[in-house]
Amino acid sequence: MKLRTFIKKFSTDEACRAHLESVRWPEGPVCPRCGTVAEATAVVNKPGYWQCRPCGKQFSVTAGTPMHGTHLPLSVWYLAMYLILASSKGISAVKLGEQLGVQYRTAWHLGHRIRAMLASGEKPILSGLVEADETYVGGKAKNLPKGAAKPEKRGRGTIKPMVLAALQRGGEARTLVVPSASGAAIAPALWGWTGKGGATLLTDELAAYDWIGRKMEAHHAVIHSRGEYARTVGGVRVHTNTAEGFFGLFKRAIVGVWHQVSPKHLHRYASEHEFRWNSREAEVPQRIARCLLGTAGRLRLKDLLA
Ligand SMILES: [Zn+2]
Repeated sequence: MKLRTFIKKFSTDEACRAHLESVRWPEGPVCPRCGTVAEATAVVNKPGYWQCRPCGKQFSVTAGTPMHGTHLPLSVWYLAMYLILASSKGISAVKLGEQLGVQYRTAWHLGHRIRAMLASGEKPILSGLVEADETYVGGKAKNLPKGAAKPEKRGRGTIKPMVLAALQRGGEARTLVVPSASGAAIAPALWGWTGKGGATLLTDELAAYDWIGRKMEAHHAVIHSRGEYARTVGGVRVHTNTAEGFFGLFKRAIVGVWHQVSPKHLHRYASEHEFRWNSREAEVPQRIARCLLGTAGRLRLKDLLA
C-alpha cells in the first residue's frame, strides 16, 4: 500500500478506530471485564466507547493496548506504524519525529510502544530444523540512560548484552536478551520456543547447546573453531547461516538506522527486528493488522526512562 493511499484511508481518528475495531473485534465489541462478545451498545456522546450490557462496564477498543489514554491522535499512531513497518530496516526516532511532526521524545516513546505491541503478538511453536545462535550487540556504556549505573564488570572488560535467537528454517525467528550464554540462561527459552524441545537443534559448538540438545528431538553442531561451517548429517544440512544472517541484519540496523541502542531497550529493538523477519512475506496492511493485535499494556515514558 502506497503512503498516499494509506494517509487517505487513515486520516481521521474515526477511520482508524473503525479499522482497529474490525481487527481486534472481528465478532463485535469484547468486554475487557467479563469477556462478553457483541453485547455492548455505543455510549452516547462518548465517541469510541461501548457499554457492556451484562456487566455495565464502559470500554473502548484501545483498552489493554499502549494506545490507551495517550494524547496522540490514533491517526498519528497509524502513520507511525506505517513508517516503521513499511520500511525494510526500521526508522530512527529522529526521522520518525520529523515525518510525524512531533518532538523527538514523543517519537522515541511512540516507537517503543509500537515495538512493545510487536513483541506481544501470538507466537507459534518452532518446529522442524531450528538454528540457534547468540551474539553480543553494541551496548556501549556511553549509550546508557543518564544516571544509570555503570554496567557491572565481569571477566575481561565490560558486559555487553547478548541476544539469543532461534530460527526455524523457512519459518519464524524468536529472540531474547540474555545475561550470558550459559545453559541456565538460554535453555528455558529454547525449550519454550520449540514446545519442550520438539525440534532438531542446529548450533555451533558452544558447550551449553550440548546439554540443551539432549532434551531436543536431535542436535547437530558445526565446529566453527575447526573451520567447519556446514556438514550434512542424515540428509540434514547442518549450519547456522540463517541465524548469522539474521544477526547481521540486526546489527546493521543498529549501526545504520537506530544509531543508539542502550542495553536497557535492546529487547524492544530485537522484537522489532524479529517481527520484521517474521512478516517479511506479508504486505504492509497485514503487518499493521498483526501489530494491532499486540496486547502490551501501557508503557509510560517515565517508566521507560527510569
Ligand atoms: Zn462486561
